[in-house]
Amino acid sequence: MNELREHKTKQKTVAFHTMGCRLNFSESGSISEGFVKRGYQIVDFGQRADVVFINTCTVTDGADSTCRNLIRKAYKSSPEGRIVVAGCYAQMEAPKIQKMTGVDLILGTSEKYKVFDYLAEEEGNLVKIDKTNEFWGAATTTADSHTRAFLKIQDGCNYICSFCIIPQARGRSRTIGIKEAVKLAQNLVEDGFKEIVLTGVNIGEYESTSGQKLSDLVKEIIQIPGLKRLRLSSVEPNTLNDELLSLLENSSKAMDHFHIPLQSGSDEILKSMRRKYDVAFYRELIHKIKRKFPHAAFGADIIVGYPGESEKQFNETYELLKELPITHFHVFPFSKRQKTTAAKLPEQIQGHEKKRRVKKMIELGEEKLAEFSQSMLGESFEVLFEKKNREGYFSGYTSNYLRVYVPSKEELKNKIRKVKLTDWREGKLYGEIIY
Ligand code: SF4
Repeated sequence: MNELREHKTKQKTVAFHTMGCRLNFSESGSISEGFVKRGYQIVDFGQRADVVFINTCTVTDGADSTCRNLIRKAYKSSPEGRIVVAGCYAQMEAPKIQKMTGVDLILGTSEKYKVFDYLAEEEGNLVKIDKTNEFWGAATTTADSHTRAFLKIQDGCNYICSFCIIPQARGRSRTIGIKEAVKLAQNLVEDGFKEIVLTGVNIGEYESTSGQKLSDLVKEIIQIPGLKRLRLSSVEPNTLNDELLSLLENSSKAMDHFHIPLQSGSDEILKSMRRKYDVAFYRELIHKIKRKFPHAAFGADIIVGYPGESEKQFNETYELLKELPITHFHVFPFSKRQKTTAAKLPEQIQGHEKKRRVKKMIELGEEKLAEFSQSMLGESFEVLFEKKNREGYFSGYTSNYLRVYVPSKEELKNKIRKVKLTDWREGKLYGEIIY
């Protein structure tokens, strides 16, 4: 017993904090698995740990300052621990991070997987931000306590959207092969995951990068016995083709939830952003999908306050979003990212004006989500349950990405149940289990 206790107290610990996109979460999943394999115990971020791993994001100024706060917090909780700052912000702002107290290791987007090698090296302030074009496969693991598994199938981006720093932070597009993706997906299913979310920076580039069709990859993964649900993460509108849509339409495992970035509802702004579609194309795409999937939920990224965005152009975006059946808004104030074309544009919009537009857009998003949720009352969906709240309600997502709460004495985590949606109260959807 004493021996056991002694062994326990000696076990090394690691704490993680992951910011940003699902891709980062899938990568943290694989890295945390690597720590567990090496005998580490994962503890909550904020607890004292031997290693603190912060997987960062640099999509906006706000993300950057959150990263710096997290580094301060990590140092406060683990002054003796080794603090690793990895990912997109590390890639772009290594010199700034290097000046912060307590940081031991700065790893860029391609280097983060080698954290174990670098930790074994001498202590000190190491910076590793070389970029390679290698593809690192990654996926959520059971250690993350996620119920849905994020499987990384693509990384980087070859587009040159004027506002975006991702191609600089993550490099050019690269992908996993179909065979390898299927193997990783099989492992996830064997580990007990019922739902897989295919993830990447721009998964629509899968075919142009790998020469293999995304629809073929999806077809193979859908056939894996034991997999119950498949979701796609964000897909660029110009890449969501009919072949893929009809494949999804004909599979009971494919979820009727689409995240299709819009960014702006003004053709002039879309052109300046160098997006590869116009408003008419986007509108028609959403209607086409809605005809195929009548219960579908749509998510969209929206940038407000892009340089030169007039009140009229902002209103065009607002009206377009009001008109379309889009329910999950991801609203970002335009943020100047270094070395991007948009950062150099004249007519930058003032901060307070951006805030006003963000607020107005978020309010519209809330109204539309409430409206959509209420329109689904009386309908029944399969729900994959995730967690229990303090009031004793389990919650999980429907196929069309509505979080629903049900009272239950039974342990429902990672179980799928058919649920009838019965009530909408104070911004939450409630239901009862049918079977
Ligand atoms: S598609 Fe555009 S916005 Fe998306 S990652 Fe690529 S460059 Fe950035």
